[in-house]
Amino acid sequence: MSIILNGIGVSKGIAIGEAYVFSREQFTIREYHISKSRQKNEIQRFKVALSKAGDQLRNIKNRIAKDTPPDILAFIDTHLLMLQDPAFNEGTTSNIKEYSCNAEWALQIQSDRLVQVFDEMQDSYLRTRKDDVLHVVRQIQSCLAEQPDHAPDATQLKGRIIIADDLTPADTLMFQHQKIAGFVTEFGGPLSHTAILSKNIGIPAIVGARYARQLIRSGETLIIDGQHGMVINTPDRQSLKQYRELRKKEKVRKDLLRKLKNVPAITLDGKAITLHGNIDRPEDIRTLHQFDQTGVGLYRTEMLFMEKNEWPDEETQFKNYKRALFRLNDLPLTIRTADLGADKEIEDAINQGPIAHNPAMGLRAIRRCLKEPELFLPQLLAILRVAALGPVRMMIPMLTNIEELHQLLSLLETAKQELRQRNVRFNEQLKVGAMIEVPAAALSADAFAKQLDFLSIGTNDLIQYTLALDRIDDEVNYLYNPLNPAVLQLIKLSIDAGKKARIPVSLCGEMASDPQYTRLLLGMGLNYFSVQANSLLEVKHIINHSKLSSLRPQVRKILACQSTQEIEAQVERLNQ
Ligand code: PEP
Ligand code: MG
Repeated sequence: MSIILNGIGVSKGIAIGEAYVFSREQFTIREYHISKSRQKNEIQRFKVALSKAGDQLRNIKNRIAKDTPPDILAFIDTHLLMLQDPAFNEGTTSNIKEYSCNAEWALQIQSDRLVQVFDEMQDSYLRTRKDDVLHVVRQIQSCLAEQPDHAPDATQLKGRIIIADDLTPADTLMFQHQKIAGFVTEFGGPLSHTAILSKNIGIPAIVGARYARQLIRSGETLIIDGQHGMVINTPDRQSLKQYRELRKKEKVRKDLLRKLKNVPAITLDGKAITLHGNIDRPEDIRTLHQFDQTGVGLYRTEMLFMEKNEWPDEETQFKNYKRALFRLNDLPLTIRTADLGADKEIEDAINQGPIAHNPAMGLRAIRRCLKEPELFLPQLLAILRVAALGPVRMMIPMLTNIEELHQLLSLLETAKQELRQRNVRFNEQLKVGAMIEVPAAALSADAFAKQLDFLSIGTNDLIQYTLALDRIDDEVNYLYNPLNPAVLQLIKLSIDAGKKARIPVSLCGEMASDPQYTRLLLGMGLNYFSVQANSLLEVKHIINHSKLSSLRPQVRKILACQSTQEIEAQVERLNQ
């Protein structure tokens, strides 16, 4: 009899194959006190385990290194770096001394502390990094317990679907190297490194499928549907036939999309559309270019700030932006100034102040930068300098009124003045644009457009602020809908304002990455999309199969609709 299990689909695609239930040896973490004289030995035992865990990771890295891109190997490097982190090694050794306890116990105390720190973080991405702590701790514990490092025999794994409690990035890479068809885990979330990694390497994957190891046995036939987060155990003939067909279609579609790499995005009636990518780090350009050799319409610089947990100095920023520009090889780069605050926090003076009850409405993005001009100035200096080396534009997040824009422009003038005095090369004509992501900015888009070089619509926030719902609050997620008529009116106002002022308008929120909205946006007059790397080709495929002249009248009708439901129905028709 078939059994269906549900989890969270984290990497799309269909896999059909035999299950391989991956069970790790279970071991209890022993806890005992030691005498003072044994502390030195215990610290030594911990150090040996640390170094053994490092060797195991390096060994995996060497085995898979030949055919694995460096940005994917970097997932293992993160764990290697954690092994050297004082939070792990010094923290644990001082626990051994302070509590006179064995290394396993001392490490566990340290792990609990670190997990608590991550649990208290506001940002959901950073909160998920506790998985990395747990993975690294488990590996050290297994070395302390002197568990043999036995990986399954590679010949057993080809084409099979791995069922596990949880996988580390290193496990995942090792399994992928052994050509598994997909994997299902009982734990882990959609933001875990393992989930992100599975998407990057393109293997169908489901996480959070509780009790999978109890309900599935090695050797049973499985179907996993990564898009819908569904696992079918011992499927009947009918389901097997249906999914084999879907898998075939999917392959044809993937091959077709791959052929669109480096093909221009042009509508059937000859309108060229700019299609760029969104990145968080210079390293992401490599992944972007695996899909398409294109420019960057949104470089979210906050990651650099968050990784350092401070405002980086001018030189650090200059080097980082230069790295992105050089990787792009003369393709355009739009650098967004720091959008700190709300779910992207660092410890600075503002963060030390009273707790904001509504941080998304608080001192976020440009508000925060203008409040701390001396901390913001290095970013302006770095962007001005890097813009002398290639096609760089600067984009300001969350502008709400013209006064903020004037303050920003005056600060930019101060930065230029400083560079002139220092006799440092920079771009006097740096192009400056605004993100339109609060309703006030959309309603004043005409005024912004007159004073700026470009606009970019940030629908992620525009939706949140228009519909008065916190974009990271699951309770109100059901209201989050780009097809709300008010949202569409604000997008249209922004596009039209750019047209009137003859400046480019892009859309860089998630809405641009979702192919179900491509035709609607084209029909509204949008001709510049900045999307997630893995959406580039799908969006391009739709652009290249759309005719603007027939979209425009249909979209006019859509914009006249008053309910989301009506709009949804019409958009569905538009996409047929
Ligand atoms: C947006 O708000 O649409 C956007 C692109 O910015 P972020 O998601 O970084 O807030
Ligand atoms: Mg935003």
